[in-house]
Amino acid sequence: MKMGVIGSGTMGNGIAQVMATAGYQVVLCDNNSVALEKAKNTIDTNLIRVFKRQKKDVNEIGEVIERITFTTDITEMRGQDLVIEAIIENIDAKKSLFAELDKICKDNTIIASNTSGLSITELGAVTKRADKVIGMHFFNPVPVMGLVEVIRGSNTSDPTYEFVIGLVESIGKESISILDTPLFVVNRILVPMINEAIFLLSEGVVSAEDIDKGMKLGASHAIGPLALADMIGLDTMLFVAETLFEETGDPKYRVPPLLRKHVRAGNLGRKSGKGFYEYY
Ligand code: NAD
Repeated sequence: MKMGVIGSGTMGNGIAQVMATAGYQVVLCDNNSVALEKAKNTIDTNLIRVFKRQKKDVNEIGEVIERITFTTDITEMRGQDLVIEAIIENIDAKKSLFAELDKICKDNTIIASNTSGLSITELGAVTKRADKVIGMHFFNPVPVMGLVEVIRGSNTSDPTYEFVIGLVESIGKESISILDTPLFVVNRILVPMINEAIFLLSEGVVSAEDIDKGMKLGASHAIGPLALADMIGLDTMLFVAETLFEETGDPKYRVPPLLRKHVRAGNLGRKSGKGFYEYY
């Protein structure tokens, strides 16, 4: 099976890495050549870490890397059986990409989105293959996290769904199945919690460190909500939080102004070196 991944950022390079590790041929495409170069270095570094941890022969890393083709040319998706989209969390950007992919890809190609919570049905509707459009929501960091949410749009067919469930199993991950709904399951629960942590920080009653310490030691979370937001990327967090508020119209999901302020200042978390914490 030939696979394509579009967007080589935080998620796209992780998806390409796990697919190539599982033995699939992957074409990783990004419209930014600098991002693509960075993705190659990230995959190299991460594979060395994973192979050493698993006490595997690091000489075999070359074989995994060779299964990934890096390109800025989207027409290379022409021959792929499955394309996973992992570009920025913006519905207009994703819709125009889905419409373009629909024209480029062969008729039986399945097009999946790694969106954190945008409508799979809406993405399918801009194509002539809504039955072959589905959500495959990986978690960050992809090589470490064991879950993929599989989201069926209103028109996703049973064969498409079954194919993706089998694929998730073949890469050694677990899936949960969801019908299209804003933010799916995990983020629907996680995002209001992170929002609440940001509101608390804005109120000036507690430090970022103590919020995170509280949730780690008091609720047994592996990572605090503010450190998690920095890891996700504050721009992605903002897009996702806005989706939940806009889609539901429920004021309990209002977006914390401090989140917007950080994004406007270019403080995007780990990927920019600064968010709620500094990473220099
Ligand atoms: P990112 O900003 O790290 O990377 C996005 C990449 O897409 C960039 O390299 C950019 O150059 C590229 N890109 C943008 N438009 C493009 C286009 N039209 N064609 C080709 N490449 C394009 O973003 P990310 O954090 O990897 O998020 C990607 C997707 O995954 C989003 O939908 C996000 O919501 C979702 N997601 C993110 C996380 C997370 O923790 N970051 C977790 C799960 C899902």
